[in-house]
Amino acid sequence: MTHHAFTPLLRLDHLTHSPLPRTLNNIMEATTGKRILVVEDEQDIAQLVQHYLQKEGFHSVTAMNGIEALKKVKEEQPDLIVLDLMLPEMDGLEVCKRVRSAPETAMLPIIMLTAKAEESDTIVGLELGADDYVTKPFSPKALVARVKALLRRIDRTPSTAAAHYRYGALTMNPARHEVSLDQQEVLLTAKEFGLLEHLLRHRGRVLTREVLLNAVWGYDYYGTTRTVDVHVRRLKQKLPLLEDAIVSVKSLGYKLKDSD
Ligand code: CA
Repeated sequence: MTHHAFTPLLRLDHLTHSPLPRTLNNIMEATTGKRILVVEDEQDIAQLVQHYLQKEGFHSVTAMNGIEALKKVKEEQPDLIVLDLMLPEMDGLEVCKRVRSAPETAMLPIIMLTAKAEESDTIVGLELGADDYVTKPFSPKALVARVKALLRRIDRTPSTAAAHYRYGALTMNPARHEVSLDQQEVLLTAKEFGLLEHLLRHRGRVLTREVLLNAVWGYDYYGTTRTVDVHVRRLKQKLPLLEDAIVSVKSLGYKLKDSD
């Protein structure tokens, strides 16, 4: 197994001797009790990340390979996964794919760790549904900041079916299957509705055609990713405010702009 060009910016042995004081800000933040699964086969990196997470009040568990990662996802029910791409047994992409394809973990936030040389894998990782990625070598502090930022983003996102979405003059009530624009009801097909709901729930995030196809049409759907393009176009026709709000991201997919 090759060793990654990882240069710890802060050494663990130094830290254990002189822990940084916890600021009031750290204590106030609602990170306490959140469970983070760190999947990394290089023990020094895993320990360093774990140390920083615990220092910030997180519960942290580690897994050394892909198989163990999937097992821990089931057993520990983490709130977020920090997932290294290069792993023995089963690589990070495969782990990500499996986590995303199980309904009970489909929405689990994932931050992927990649090396610079694996840039193309990063794109694939995002396509398979990683929420964010951090490039090695990284500062553990910066990684923990990303963990917090992602958890905050998730916290703000209504996850229950009863949630009400608002986007400018547009409102969606998933429980009643209603969409209105300027208080005028707009009739959408089931798939248009599902697509819009997914975009609203993940606003600000790039969603690939594959991710949207799987989320709205399901894994056993035989159509092509063009289906997504067609439905996005129809949504824009029915709801003109989406014309500029849904942006196409290079060859990847779509994103609903974060601002209302
Ligand atoms: Ca690795």
